[in-house]
Amino acid sequence: MRYAIKENKKVEPQFSGERAFCPICKNKVVGKIYSIRINHWAHLVKSESDCDSWYEPITEWHLNWQNLFPEENREVTITENNISHRADILLNNELVIEFQNSPIKIREVERRETFYNKNNRKLIWVLNGKSLAESVIVEKENVISDILVSISIPKSFPLVKNYSSRRILKHKLIGFLNADKKRSEIKENILTFKYTKEEFEIEHIKDQYKNHIIAIYKDLYGEIELNEFKKLIKIEDHLIEETFIKPRLKRLTWRAFIDKMESPVFIDNLKGLEEDELYYLSENKIISKEKFIKKALTYV
Ligand SMILES: [Zn+2]
Repeated sequence: MRYAIKENKKVEPQFSGERAFCPICKNKVVGKIYSIRINHWAHLVKSESDCDSWYEPITEWHLNWQNLFPEENREVTITENNISHRADILLNNELVIEFQNSPIKIREVERRETFYNKNNRKLIWVLNGKSLAESVIVEKENVISDILVSISIPKSFPLVKNYSSRRILKHKLIGFLNADKKRSEIKENILTFKYTKEEFEIEHIKDQYKNHIIAIYKDLYGEIELNEFKKLIKIEDHLIEETFIKPRLKRLTWRAFIDKMESPVFIDNLKGLEEDELYYLSENKIISKEKFIKKALTYV
């Protein structure tokens, strides 16, 4: 363990042989400072070798991650029904973060998720890709995100009584096709909106809009100049040169326990990722570590 209790304080060992107390079983622990291993506390009596049955050796990777969070939140003992475990991180908002460096059994995954998700706590897994997904590569693909569609209809029809292009374009039948109001705007007689490339077939959506607009016109103004109106509807589309990265996971081998994790899974140290990036497996997204930490700390 990284922290023990000494004079009522949570402390890391300063020298080999230093004495303190285990925060779980309250027995004596002794400081271990070796150049080849991470500084840690060990139980003095070997039979108590670790009172946390989920004990795993601390790695440099653990330390680096834990150090990104406030000290009070690192290695926190959680007790449920007289059973205690040390969470790598327990934040004040009840978020538990487990940094998993070595493979674990599927049964263990279930046990830990059950334990840590109790009492409004919420568990997040961060896996070390270097040790758990060494052959996996994240491939980044640039995707053109949006297509801009503009529809223009005649501004005026002197022969039609009360004709209003806005009235047609603001009709709820059109709103229904373009549910996200933030992505559209009407200027004079032109409606423009964005949609994601993969959402629909462009020609299909253009036809749909055209038919709806004709139906609205007919409903509001009847057959007068209807054919002329039809001819003057213009629908154009063009790609927006805005790209985002879509990750694709290339797996040669894969550890089955990862797929059994029901809590959100993030993977660090995957080939194809930058140093400051994490792969968010559950959502197939790449997130910066900075953002991950900020989101965790501000999670409600
Ligand atoms: Zn103990």
